[in-house]
Amino acid sequence: MEKRAETRTMKAVYNRVDQRIIDELAAIVGSAGVTTDAEKMAVYAHDETSEAHYFRMPDVVVKPANATEVSEILKLANRERVPVTPRGSGTGLSAGCVPIFGGIVMSMERMNRILEVDTQNLFMVVEPAVTTGEVQRRAKDAGLLYAGDPCSAESSQIGGNVAENAGGNKAVKYGTTSRYVHGLEVVLPNGDIMRVGGKCVKDVSGYDLIKLFVGSEGTLGVITRIWLKLLPLPKFKVGLLAPFEQMQDAIEVVPKIMTGSGVVPTSVEFMDSLSIEAAAMYLNATLPHGDAGAYVIIEIEANTQAQVEAEYEAVGKLLMDNGALEVYVADNLSTSQRIWAARKCIAEALRLVSPVYCMEDITVPTSEIPGLVAEITAIAERYNVIVPCFGHAGDGNIHATLLKKDMDDDVWESCKAKVLSEIYEATYKRGGNLSGEHGIGAKRIDHFERFYDPVALDVTRRIKEALDPNSILNPGKVVRPA
Ligand SMILES: Cc1cc2nc3c(=O)[nH]c(=O)nc-3n(C[C@H](O)[C@H](O)[C@H](O)COP(=O)(O)OP(=O)(O)OC[C@H]3O[C@@H](n4cnc5c(N)ncnc54)[C@H](O)[C@@H]3O)c2cc1C
Repeated sequence: MEKRAETRTMKAVYNRVDQRIIDELAAIVGSAGVTTDAEKMAVYAHDETSEAHYFRMPDVVVKPANATEVSEILKLANRERVPVTPRGSGTGLSAGCVPIFGGIVMSMERMNRILEVDTQNLFMVVEPAVTTGEVQRRAKDAGLLYAGDPCSAESSQIGGNVAENAGGNKAVKYGTTSRYVHGLEVVLPNGDIMRVGGKCVKDVSGYDLIKLFVGSEGTLGVITRIWLKLLPLPKFKVGLLAPFEQMQDAIEVVPKIMTGSGVVPTSVEFMDSLSIEAAAMYLNATLPHGDAGAYVIIEIEANTQAQVEAEYEAVGKLLMDNGALEVYVADNLSTSQRIWAARKCIAEALRLVSPVYCMEDITVPTSEIPGLVAEITAIAERYNVIVPCFGHAGDGNIHATLLKKDMDDDVWESCKAKVLSEIYEATYKRGGNLSGEHGIGAKRIDHFERFYDPVALDVTRRIKEALDPNSILNPGKVVRPA
């Protein structure tokens, strides 16, 4: 057998993909499902993590159409010891779908069917590449709600959401993706196809394997089918936008809404003044109180007009009593879209301010949010770096985003390392964690090893080794390859 070149990064050693393997892949998925053209593969070399050292070209991109093809690809990869990186839409923010060891990128894009909308049991059965927005729309067309709602909904895939256990704008009331995943079909690294769960609302038969795979970041198996729980669609919805002169007043009101208003809002989002400025510039729009120190954006849903009114009046009063300059009420689609446009565009807007940035998604108990944001502001001032803060404040999840502005590359790298280290220390001191929704990926492995409970880290490694002894599936993510 011809000796193939080896790639050695971290500790793992993999074989390169040669023409024989490419031919075998084409025999599995058909030649139209295999790409080696550099120009076409460039988009698969990165996700939304902006820093170039997280970019890596695959040797080949393969697009299976069903679980059997996924299984054949994984058997081949195991036999030949080449890495396989599953990829959804590439909207991730932790370099999770980047093939950092090269090899095969397995793009799920052909598996994009909604297989069933079951209005009797309130379930939807989908393949992984359906976009989240499409899942939401199909549920709504049936008078139902799919409650997952990441800001990337229009582009991210539902399989990517499951692999990351995505959160989003509605997690305050509805929780994260995992709450809605009741069944999975997963192809394991050795090619075995496993089905677990389904349409049962209750199921404690054995270990909770569904929870193990939700949020496993494509390191334990490839998700090929998902059973999603739907809810009745709330009939009435109102959005509130409250600008505050002082950022600290805005952030201090968040835990008060959760404990003092008697209301469980669907969303409680926060934007600081840098985020407001960037959003206004990106949208080329004049935002209300555009010079405010911060915005708090709230959404309330209920089944009667009277209830929604009572709830938004209670929350509105609390906002005014705690220093809001005004409370704007959006009770129709167009005003609501205007409010949410500002919040949903921040990631793109900050990229205009600085194409290189480092977006974090630290998470703390909600009562710790005001203290943490104050601490982040102080850290940013100390290092003279711009760190806008925004995010899902109602569930304790803040996107502190370091911007590389007027800095050489080496200054940026050393400054970023120190600032991140201090932000994570502040987060852990307050009972928090590294990531509320974007995952560990390749980006946070060092910090994960530093901050995560050592016994839990060892269990994580042993689970990975048990399911993927050759470390061929998405190596170098969450844990280092053995
Ligand atoms: C503007 C913007 C806003 C965002 N807002 C939010 C938000 O509000 N909440 C939130 O949680 N995230 C958010 N994100 C992050 C991102 O959209 C989510 O992590 C999303 O779930 C990724 O989905 P994807 O299809 O793009 O997956 P990818 O980025 O392609 O992959 C992400 C991970 O999932 C794995 N994977 C993908 N598909 C499969 C599969 N079928 N089987 C196994 N593994 C798989 C990959 O290997 C990788 O590890 C945002 C990102 C952007 C750019």
